[in-house]
Amino acid sequence: MNYIDMHCDTLSEALVRGQKTAKSLEGTMVDVERLKRSGAAGQFFAMFLPQKESIPQLNTLLEKMYEIYQNTLSECSDILAPAYRAEDLEKNRREGKISAFLTIENGVVAEEKLENIQRFYRKGVRLITLTWNDENCFGYPHSSDREEMRRGLTPFGKEAVSYMEEQGILVDVSHLSDGGFYDVADIMKKPFVASHSNCRALAPATRNLTDDMIRLLAEHGGVAGINFEPSFLNGNPGDTLSRVERMCDHVEHFIRIGGVECVGIGTDFDGIGGQFEISDCTQMEKLFTALRKRGISEGTLEKIAYRNVERVIREGM
Ligand SMILES: [Zn+2]
Repeated sequence: MNYIDMHCDTLSEALVRGQKTAKSLEGTMVDVERLKRSGAAGQFFAMFLPQKESIPQLNTLLEKMYEIYQNTLSECSDILAPAYRAEDLEKNRREGKISAFLTIENGVVAEEKLENIQRFYRKGVRLITLTWNDENCFGYPHSSDREEMRRGLTPFGKEAVSYMEEQGILVDVSHLSDGGFYDVADIMKKPFVASHSNCRALAPATRNLTDDMIRLLAEHGGVAGINFEPSFLNGNPGDTLSRVERMCDHVEHFIRIGGVECVGIGTDFDGIGGQFEISDCTQMEKLFTALRKRGISEGTLEKIAYRNVERVIREGM
C-alpha cells in the first residue's frame, strides 16, 4: 500500500553512525533501500536539533544533516527524488520514485529572524516542527505542569507562523504546548499538522492531542500522524511494546473525533525506543492489514495512508 510518513529521524541516525548517506544503514528503522520495498510514496526526513548545544553547534549539525540528505538524493536518484509541492509528489510517483520532503524538528535555529526561515525554505525545507522539548524563539514545549502547558507562542512565533503559512512551509505542532497549539489554530487559515502525535484520550502523554485539539485540527483541514512510540500509544506509560492493534485504536479514535480526513502516518522511526511489532519501514503493511480487519474501507485506508497528507501538501506548500 502506498503511504506517506510525515516524520522520521533517520538523518540524525545516519549522522550518529558517521554515514555519508542514508542509502543503506545498519540497525535503523528506515533507509532508502528498505523504503523501496516498503510501499512508501513519500517520506518526510527531519533534521532534528537537540537543544543542549549552542546555536553555532546546532547550525553545524543542521549543515551536516543537510549534506547527508543531499548525498542521499544524489546516490539514490533512481529511487528517491526531492519534493517541494504536490506536483512533485505526483510527478515522482508517476516515475516510480519515492518523494523526499525535508523538515526541521525544532525551530530554534530561526533565531527570531524571518530571513532564517526564508533561508531554510530556499534549502528545500517544507515543514518546521516549531519546538522540540525545550522553550525556543517560537514558543514552549508540551509539559506536565499545567501552567507551562498553557503558555502560548512568543510574539516572534506568531509572526513566524503567519510567514510560514504565506511561504508554504507546513507548521507542525507536535511537541508544542497546548497554549501554542491554540495560538497556531487561531492564527492559521490553511491546514497545519501534528506530524507525529497520537490521542491523549487513549495515552496520557502530554505529547498527544486532546479531543478538543483533534476537532480544531480537523476543522482546519489538518492531519495528525500516528506515532509508533510505545509511550504515546499505550494507556500505561510503563508498557514498552509498540502494538499494531493499539495504533488501530488511535486511528479509530481520530476518526471518531475528527473524521476520516484528519489522520495520517507519522511513524517517528529512528526517533523512538522500545519493542516494536512494526520494527522497520518494510513492515508497514501490518498496519494496513490490521485496519482492513477492523472494517476500514479501501477508500478510507487510502486517505489515512496517503490522501490526507497529500491534501495538506497541496493546500499548505
Ligand atoms: Zn519528535
